[in-house]
Amino acid sequence: MGWCPYVVEGSDGATMPAEQPGERDVSRPAASQGEAEAQTPPGHGAMRVFDRVVGELSADECLRFDVRLERQIARLQAAQLAVRARFAEHRPRLEGEPDERRFTEFAGEELAAELGVAPALGNRRLMLAVEVCTRLPASLHALHEGDIDLLRVESLARQTAALSATQAEAVERAVLERGGRASHAAFRAAVRRRVLKVDPQGANRRHRHAVRGRCVRITDGEDGMGTLRALLPAERMVAVYHRVDVFARLAAGDPEDKRTLDERRADVLYDLLMGQDRHSVRPEVQVVVPISTLMGVSDEPGELAGYGPIPAELARELAADSKSTWRRILTDPQDGQVVEVGDRRFPSPGLARAVRARNRHCIFPGCGKPAINCEIDHTKPHAANGRTEEGNLGPACARHHHLKHAESRRRRRTRHRHSGGAGPGRPPAEPAVRGRAEPPAADWKCEQPTPGVFLWTSPEGRTYRVLPEPYLDVTQPPAGRSTPESA
Ligand SMILES: [Zn+2]
Repeated sequence: MGWCPYVVEGSDGATMPAEQPGERDVSRPAASQGEAEAQTPPGHGAMRVFDRVVGELSADECLRFDVRLERQIARLQAAQLAVRARFAEHRPRLEGEPDERRFTEFAGEELAAELGVAPALGNRRLMLAVEVCTRLPASLHALHEGDIDLLRVESLARQTAALSATQAEAVERAVLERGGRASHAAFRAAVRRRVLKVDPQGANRRHRHAVRGRCVRITDGEDGMGTLRALLPAERMVAVYHRVDVFARLAAGDPEDKRTLDERRADVLYDLLMGQDRHSVRPEVQVVVPISTLMGVSDEPGELAGYGPIPAELARELAADSKSTWRRILTDPQDGQVVEVGDRRFPSPGLARAVRARNRHCIFPGCGKPAINCEIDHTKPHAANGRTEEGNLGPACARHHHLKHAESRRRRRTRHRHSGGAGPGRPPAEPAVRGRAEPPAADWKCEQPTPGVFLWTSPEGRTYRVLPEPYLDVTQPPAGRSTPESA
């Protein structure tokens, strides 16, 4: 048994084997030592902890003792899990009981009755003990060493319950490698992320199953209050809360409004649900998706801002929904760097930096304006559904930015002049000068066939290829950045 080496060392030293003299009886009241019990119980200050009287502890000692006690408690809880798992071994599943049952149907009842808790809780505790002791021995060890607490162990056990033993072990190993994290929430998210990574298909399946359990519930509370709870798919939960939060914050501008943010959120929720939607702002929620996941070549989990990791399938679904208010953020699965911010007019600072590092000068043939002084230009205009991504961006100086974007305007005007004739006193339209038929006046055209490479087509139909300058360029002179090509 993996959990056998642990030595039980609790405060109830008399009935516990292998006690350690220095560590037992950590909370004996000082007054009770060698004396008859006092009639009035001593206050907390008289209690002894680690052979010190509580009332004499400094603030610093209180904090240090608290940490020590936490570790002791964790150690005792590990022992308790081991003892419970051992109890379950005495109550093996009977013939004909379902395979997934780890002990007899009513073993939990025995524990519950002994502990004075509800049978369901007794069964859950027994289940947890068996789960941890048989499938998560490293977590049991970490708990015993006081490296993580029971809540974290529970979180690992709960989230890995549907995995195979090998998968559960892989999750456990990867998560524990980096310790208990800064908070329970961070630890839970770390476990969730790992589970999604180890078993993406299972995660998608479980998510689909869990979605069917969505519901709204009310619970009555004290003093004429009650709680409205909704169990929702995570992305809807985030969207709902985000909307409520945004509107509540908008209302903060009024100095007459003395309500707290919490109060305003509650009021906004009510207003929205009761059809009093006076607000027109559409909040935006971000979904982060690794590129490989979006392309379907991997099942790396995505991430929902304000919630945490989500299954790959759900991330793909949200990222692909063009009508939603989700902002898709694509990341490189190798290093987690942002590669594309979806449907967004302005590139992120990181993306702009990457584009300027790639093309260090204005992308117009021969223009030497440093990229740092250039605007980041959409090769295919944003208005024409050009995306804000590396392969559609390049630095353009103000002049060449204008050249490119004046194009459509000028073409419209030219077409108008051509069809409607020149205005009074104006020179005749250009086509007459050039002696060409439609289109009247071609403009510079710019394409980006591969990221960083710009193919310009002149009004005369000549093409020029502008390549990104390599950082270690010894063969190519700076003037060779653009190369004319035969049309
Ligand atoms: Zn330029």
